[in-house]
Amino acid sequence: MTTYKGAIAGALISFSAALMISGSLDLAIGVALIYSFYSLLLEAIHLVCHCDIRHKTSVMKKLVGLHRYHHQYDMSTSFGVTSSMGDRFFGTYVKGGYEGYKKMGSQ
Ligand SMILES: [Zn+2]
Repeated sequence: MTTYKGAIAGALISFSAALMISGSLDLAIGVALIYSFYSLLLEAIHLVCHCDIRHKTSVMKKLVGLHRYHHQYDMSTSFGVTSSMGDRFFGTYVKGGYEGYKKMGSQ
């Protein structure tokens, strides 16, 4: 979970990196704002994953199932909150994690 300190640090780091690479203050501010918006979106989706809501779309059911698998069964896998793309890239994706979670009767 990204904390507000992590979000601020990430925005500052992305701002500094964009400024050093491009030399454009406008671009650096834009990059920092995009990073901040993404962090906010990530936290909102993460919050939804932890709420006791019965999701209707298959995309949300799968995302929430994978995230709950992460917290309840294996904290070393399924880190993605907005998608499983990062987990697939870094090899932490659990194939069938969502289905296994469903079989436990938790959703
Ligand atoms: Zn979580």
